[in-house]
Amino acid sequence: MPASSLHWFRDDLRLADNPALMAAVGHGPTLCLYILDEGGSRRPLGGASRWWLSHSLAALAAAIGARGGELIFMRGDPAAILPRVVEATGADLITWSRRYDGEAVALDSRIKAELTGAGAKVASFNAALLNEPWQVTTKTGDPMKVFTPYWRAARARGEPAPPVPAPTRIEPLKCPAAVAAMAVSHAELALEPTRPDWAGGLREAWAPGEEAAAERLGEFLSGSLDGYGEGRDRPDRVSTSRLSPHLRFGEIGSRQIWHATRSATESGEAAASASDSEKFLSEIGWREFSYHLLFHNPDLATRNFNPRFDAFPWHPDKAALKAWQRGLTGYPIVDAGLRQLWTTGWMHNRVRMIAASFLIKHLLIDWRQGEDWFWDTLVDADPASNAASWQWVAGSGADASPYYRIFNPVTQGLKFDPKGGYVRRWVPEIAGLDDGLIHEPWKADAEALRRAGITLGESYPRPLVDLDVGRRRALDALAATRSA
Ligand SMILES: Cc1cc2nc3c(=O)[nH]c(=O)nc-3n(C[C@H](O)[C@H](O)[C@H](O)COP(=O)(O)OP(=O)(O)OC[C@H]3O[C@@H](n4cnc5c(N)ncnc54)[C@H](O)[C@@H]3O)c2cc1C
Repeated sequence: MPASSLHWFRDDLRLADNPALMAAVGHGPTLCLYILDEGGSRRPLGGASRWWLSHSLAALAAAIGARGGELIFMRGDPAAILPRVVEATGADLITWSRRYDGEAVALDSRIKAELTGAGAKVASFNAALLNEPWQVTTKTGDPMKVFTPYWRAARARGEPAPPVPAPTRIEPLKCPAAVAAMAVSHAELALEPTRPDWAGGLREAWAPGEEAAAERLGEFLSGSLDGYGEGRDRPDRVSTSRLSPHLRFGEIGSRQIWHATRSATESGEAAASASDSEKFLSEIGWREFSYHLLFHNPDLATRNFNPRFDAFPWHPDKAALKAWQRGLTGYPIVDAGLRQLWTTGWMHNRVRMIAASFLIKHLLIDWRQGEDWFWDTLVDADPASNAASWQWVAGSGADASPYYRIFNPVTQGLKFDPKGGYVRRWVPEIAGLDDGLIHEPWKADAEALRRAGITLGESYPRPLVDLDVGRRRALDALAATRSA
């Protein structure tokens, strides 16, 4: 039988810098396959991620088609589907890009053992990370727990490999009837919301796909990278790359970002200073560190990294959780963030920290409830970065922000959204307030409220909790945990 291959796409929805795809295409005619795996042991994707995935798959299918190949869609359990497809096609090389969450690692090993046992060769590659999670260790070979030494050790491993180019042609492997019968159309994946169609804001804000990801990187390198070190904290400006959903779905890889950033800075093509560029790359480093933590702690999204927090006296409160989710806490910067998230599927990093801190500390709601909401609503909802970041804010994580560091939403708002542009954009009902009051509308007198057309408690809520009371309660809860 002539050599043929199957590339199983997962979180590597791109053609460039995809060594697993290159290996498959170089081996012989290739079946390109995506399996929508729902209902198994894996955490179901959230609604915003499903929307993104739908568009990303459509873009990938078009790119593969333009190179002569075809992307086949199936739905179901990959452990049941893949052996059947491999048997029916006779593909003797199966390739994929590695995943790092515990359930995926277990599933992939199981499938690999079965396919290898049946005589096929399985080859997996790294498409997602600069370093594999097991390649960076302490001097004694243990996993790292603190970011700074992690990043130092990662950097000491040298430059990441240069990205491999996209295949110019993908020779399709002819699908036998048995395989064609298992395929579904893109529409049948039914990833997008219909009743109601709530994705209008997402459509307006984003263009998923590999081509759009490359454009976004180019725009960022020639634009906001200059001044990124300071600008990255300003939600009122477009000052970060917004590459996170593209990275999440592997439409672009960190090796590509790394080399493009270095070369744009060194060649002078980007006006940015070396320190802006280093700061940006260190944020990519936080993503790497999150994957390192997830790989070594598979239940990072559900279990306190620091078990002392298992005794933490959380204060479940459905009404308060709902007010937070809807952006109705009465704290403008928190509300602006939650509404930006609901409308666009994305929230600025500084505001993610403020909103998460408010939920965990001022409302004493378990960080897992916030993690879950972000999982459902973020287009970049990521098994590693979301879990690690929530635990970081909670103080329960590795190298976490100390629990007693409680963000004050008013001072944070005044510092990072000084003119209130961000709040006015997302909380229009208080837009008429002066800059001095926009972050604390409850301090406005009757005349200022009247002028701005606001009735507190009606057109905009009063604060859900008093900041000092909330802060005191959080510190008492921590003290109780410590003594327990
Ligand atoms: C509570 C909370 C939850 C979060 N959940 C997610 C999530 O589900 N998915 C996600 O990708 N990021 C998450 N982050 C991290 C960060 O907020 C986003 O990566 C960032 O806002 C994405 O915007 P950007 O692409 O413009 O970032 P840039 O500032 O341009 O950074 C470039 C890239 O670096 C990575 N990055 C930046 N900051 C971090 C960070 N703190 N941790 C890990 N990676 C980082 C991202 O991949 C990002 O795209 C979370 C942060 C917090 C505080």
